Amino acid sequence: MKIDFNAMLCGEQRELTFSYALDIGGYTPDIASGNAKIIGNAFDHTGYIKLQIEFMLDMAVVCSKCAEEFNYKDNFKIEYSLCTALENPEENDDYIVLDSGMLDLEELAETSIILNLPSRFICKKNCKGLCQKCGANLNNGRCDCPDKEIDPRLVKLIEYLEKFENNDTEEVE
Ligand SMILES: [Zn+2]
Ligand SMILES: [Zn+2]
Repeated sequence: MKIDFNAMLCGEQRELTFSYALDIGGYTPDIASGNAKIIGNAFDHTGYIKLQIEFMLDMAVVCSKCAEEFNYKDNFKIEYSLCTALENPEENDDYIVLDSGMLDLEELAETSIILNLPSRFICKKNCKGLCQKCGANLNNGRCDCPDKEIDPRLVKLIEYLEKFENNDTEEVE
């Protein structure tokens, strides 16, 4: 969706406010579903437009340790400076250049949201994650995997000793 700033650019309007809801599911592979409420306030400054956007996120995200989905909420505000043209675009990446007075809100929101989210989500501080061997979620209790890896060369010996032990007890009876 595009926001039209032309009325502000020609001085007919000093302020502009807008609000939208965006479906942000899939913005990153960790966001299973969710939406962002966006409230924007733009003010005319001499030579450029100052735009403040508040993002209110409500999502179902995937825990990077246990792979379970959980609810994640986040709020943040970002300020942008908008203009119509730049003399040296390479030196002025703080400014967003409007295309025919229009701003692509979806594109701006997607970039801003991705940059402001943590690189990975963890469902709780002490999340135990998944068992490396069987993949069981260790938050739901222990799995049956042994604590330590047994040297495969010793497995035969252990089996032999167990058999020997069993035979031994049988003989005693
Ligand atoms: Zn987790
Ligand atoms: Zn296991």
